[in-house]
Amino acid sequence: MKSLWNDTEAANYTDELGLRVYSSRLLGRNTELVLHGGGNTSVKISQRNILGEDEQLLYVKGSGWDLETIDRPGFAPVRLDHLQRLAQLDQLSDPDMVNELKTHMTLASAPTPSVEAILHAILPYKYVDHTHADAVVTITNTPNGLQHIRQIYGDSMVIVPYVMPGFDLAKSCARCFAEQANDSTRGMILMNHGIFSFAETARESYERMIELVSMAEAFLQDKDAWQLATGTASAIAPDRLELADLRKQVSDTRGEALVMHSRRDARTLSFTGRDDLATISQQGPATPDHVIRTKRLPMLGSDSQAYSRAYEDYFKTHAASARETKTILDTAPRVILDPRLGLCTLGRSMKDAMIVHDIYLHTMDIIERASLLDCFQALPAQDIFDVEYWDLEQAKLSKSGKAPMFSGEIALVTGAASGIGKACVDSLLARGAAVVGLDINPAITQLHERMDFLGLVCDVSDNTAIEQALDQAVTHFGGLDMLVLNAGIFPKSARIDAMDMAVWQKTLDINLTASLNLMRLAHPLLKRAPRSGRVVVIGSKNVPAPGPGAAAYSASKAALNQLVRVAALEWGQDNIRINELHPNAVFDTAIWTDEILAARAASYGLTVDEYKKRNVMKVEVTSHDVAELTAEMCGPLFAKTLAAQLPIDGGDERVI
Ligand code: ZN
Repeated sequence: MKSLWNDTEAANYTDELGLRVYSSRLLGRNTELVLHGGGNTSVKISQRNILGEDEQLLYVKGSGWDLETIDRPGFAPVRLDHLQRLAQLDQLSDPDMVNELKTHMTLASAPTPSVEAILHAILPYKYVDHTHADAVVTITNTPNGLQHIRQIYGDSMVIVPYVMPGFDLAKSCARCFAEQANDSTRGMILMNHGIFSFAETARESYERMIELVSMAEAFLQDKDAWQLATGTASAIAPDRLELADLRKQVSDTRGEALVMHSRRDARTLSFTGRDDLATISQQGPATPDHVIRTKRLPMLGSDSQAYSRAYEDYFKTHAASARETKTILDTAPRVILDPRLGLCTLGRSMKDAMIVHDIYLHTMDIIERASLLDCFQALPAQDIFDVEYWDLEQAKLSKSGKAPMFSGEIALVTGAASGIGKACVDSLLARGAAVVGLDINPAITQLHERMDFLGLVCDVSDNTAIEQALDQAVTHFGGLDMLVLNAGIFPKSARIDAMDMAVWQKTLDINLTASLNLMRLAHPLLKRAPRSGRVVVIGSKNVPAPGPGAAAYSASKAALNQLVRVAALEWGQDNIRINELHPNAVFDTAIWTDEILAARAASYGLTVDEYKKRNVMKVEVTSHDVAELTAEMCGPLFAKTLAAQLPIDGGDERVI
């Protein structure tokens, strides 16, 4: 592990808090030290208050901030002497502790200080750095962890036995520090939890962390417990319906829709393919920090039902504690390990699922290295339970507020690179759905750089391409809840007597047959949607009011309209709702350039603006308008509406 300290970069930060920001970010850049908001740092600073008095303040990482991206406002200033006096108390409940932390800050707008604030306060050093370094967690999660730690560090580290984070841990650290600290003390090891480094300067404290963790890594290398098997990804790929079934089961257990990301690369399969997977993976997470963010023990499912059976024992053991603390048990796993399915992680959003995913990738390394060193031995189940159902964490969960409309759900939109399709992607993302966008235009892959969007180049009339797209969608997000059939072509105007049969056929292939094919393949997935399956078809004003010269387009859309009606009759009982929109004169799409618009308007003797608003209400209909209605049709407002055909055209006399 190398120090990332760079004097040129550091020169941008001159004051004590600035350097705290800089070295915290350096820690955050190293995923072997901290992951997704894990770890915390602090600096003790003397500041003059509004009365002209000098005060000692502890600037400690606030909750909700990530070390990698933290900035000055991410540190909460708390009065140091008050924290040190709190540390003298015999006991302090979690809610009381949080209250004390919040009410002794000097900045009302600061975030809630870390629950490890008191621990930072009792350490008599200016800069304090704390991480859940993989190498330290690996070594301390083995039966001889304590001996190993002594062998690596001698008496230069204060060693603290495992105590749950919070006030008791701060007390225990204070006690251990008083007993063990000496002139050569350079840090502190918290068994089954992580490591502290401290010093008088930001650089020294940071580089000491790197040095101390490097010593743990070197120890693992010495013991041949570093190199991990990668294996080969030879297991037969799962069927997408199997994955969708699994996602539905977990979602049903949880009582709300969850997205599920699965990973089957060689490294993952070599882990999930281990003969002793059942033993090593059921030991529990590597550090309390991981418990909190993965929220569930990893589960083993050799078939899609196995997880619930495997989990029963765990809950039998803890049902009594839960009753005592009046905790609601959330029995849905967030991690599923399977020799064939690989690593599957779940969450209410892709962000949540990917946090669990990233943490588990590190957990795999930790477990395997610990197994190479000796054997992986996590905390007793009771300790894990205590952290998992910690009242501070419970409070955080209940505060997380109302979930977005489509939280945990997945939508697929065709023709998604531009116009109405692109706008539908935005409207669905805005309502919390993970979205798969298909388009023949390669720009689709670059449409959004966010983990809840997957853009795939796909010719919707190519059956193999559609099959592959659905496989990718399900691997990535776990299933399909909503389908928006938007892709279509509008061929050049031609009267029937001049019809080019190739154009006719192509129009039917794309506008009609491709839609039927996608509906056919999506049906079993929509049937497995945890809440219900929804389909919205983008029809056309041409269905109720065809125009001359548009035979191919109008006939294809009319046939599609009939398809919607038949699908409603067939799928309604599967709890799949299918409805249709008939937009007209939506000009902010790829086919309408400014020149074409101007020419068309001129041919009617109208200005472009008048031409755009050629409807009863004299309003312009945009892609966004159509997309918003599409998204709402997938929502609760239309929960009991089936086979509806809604115009969205500002009122068209021929349709009215
Ligand atoms: Zn910690």
